[in-house]
Amino acid sequence: MDHFQLKNGVLHAEDIPLTELAEIYGTPVYIYSAATLRRHAQVFREALKPAGRVHLAFAVKANPNLAVLNILADEGYGADVVSAGELNRALQAGVAPEDIVFSGVGKTADEMRHGLQTGIGQFNIESAEEGHELAAIAAEMGQTPAIALRVNPDVDAATHAKISTGKAENKFGVAIDQAPALYAELSAKPSLNMRGIAVHIGSQLLSLDPLEQAFGKVGDLVQTLRGQGLTVSHVDLGGGLGVPYAPGEVPPSPADYGAMVARVTRDWDVTLMFEPGRVIAGNAGVMLTRVIRVKQALGNPFVVVDGAMNDLARPALYDAWHDFVAVQPNGETMAAHIVGPVCETGDTFARDREIDAVAAGDLAIFRTAGAYGATLASTYNSRALVPEVLVDGSNHALVADRIDPATIMAAERVPEWLK
Ligand SMILES: *Cc1c(COP(=O)(O)O)cnc(C)c1O
Repeated sequence: MDHFQLKNGVLHAEDIPLTELAEIYGTPVYIYSAATLRRHAQVFREALKPAGRVHLAFAVKANPNLAVLNILADEGYGADVVSAGELNRALQAGVAPEDIVFSGVGKTADEMRHGLQTGIGQFNIESAEEGHELAAIAAEMGQTPAIALRVNPDVDAATHAKISTGKAENKFGVAIDQAPALYAELSAKPSLNMRGIAVHIGSQLLSLDPLEQAFGKVGDLVQTLRGQGLTVSHVDLGGGLGVPYAPGEVPPSPADYGAMVARVTRDWDVTLMFEPGRVIAGNAGVMLTRVIRVKQALGNPFVVVDGAMNDLARPALYDAWHDFVAVQPNGETMAAHIVGPVCETGDTFARDREIDAVAAGDLAIFRTAGAYGATLASTYNSRALVPEVLVDGSNHALVADRIDPATIMAAERVPEWLK
């Protein structure tokens, strides 16, 4: 459920007509709904009530906007971060350091030091090499950080290959059969507080089966480790729950997910940690765009919009579907391709799609753009960096500026010797 609904024939974000926001902020622009973010945060938390002791950390990479992080921090969410930049954003947004989990396969020594200095709650380490390096740095700094070992359970998440992370050939985690030896070795390091296992098999999962399979393997591992006399007090089950993008796509509900988790983990006696991203932010945002022109062609016409692959990269990256809806639909439909102005054939949002009839100058939105949307934007083709606006009831504010090409050009230099 989201708060982008038609009222009197005009799509609104909560109480505000999108026509008004387009007038004020221009297009393309991302629009987020605070009420939707809060609702999703609460629904997810509620869904995990049956699972006992839980810690929730929003996956910052899904939507790192400071205003968004502020809302989620207020909802009691920690942060799952994958770089020093994300760590700083989480702190800036008011997330308590102890509620921050540092994930990722390529933390640098500097990033480890930064995490230790700021006193984050947990490092999820992804290799023996990383474990040894962190142990050495922590010893140097006289610290004993809490650690979870991320394992790769070798299950097929049945999602797009570029967002699948839990197969043996993926770069993430350590092979689950090598985990007991490494966990024991790292537990013996006085500068590490080895306390748990982490797993995250991929994103936009539309079935609970691969998750259940992975969690089952993690449960077996917890038993094995305890059998060796090792301590396991935390298990981080990652994120990954899908959201509906295309018509007919029905992801598992958070409640079904919570029930499955409660059933599978019933005997674990651990604090369960979660890192949801998309399921919190996906439907809380849209990208508002204006039709530049409708170009007639041999087949269906091309609807050329002012948003492009540099603003919303998911279709080009993952063949992703985003619903395209007119802001003031006239009740008619048309079959069309939807494309942006960038000089790449990949700058295509949809082909041969039945959409609301639109004409030059009309406004439309791409739905479900609140996760992996603005954060993946670039300035390719010397376009502006797309701005972001937050709506909260009848309040609205620019929460990320449109950075125009002149500002970006101002950061470039021509060396003296070329002048
Ligand atoms: C990307 C990521 C997440 C969030 O995934 P969603 O599918 O957005 O829920 C959680 N944990 C880790 C380690 C990730 O890399």
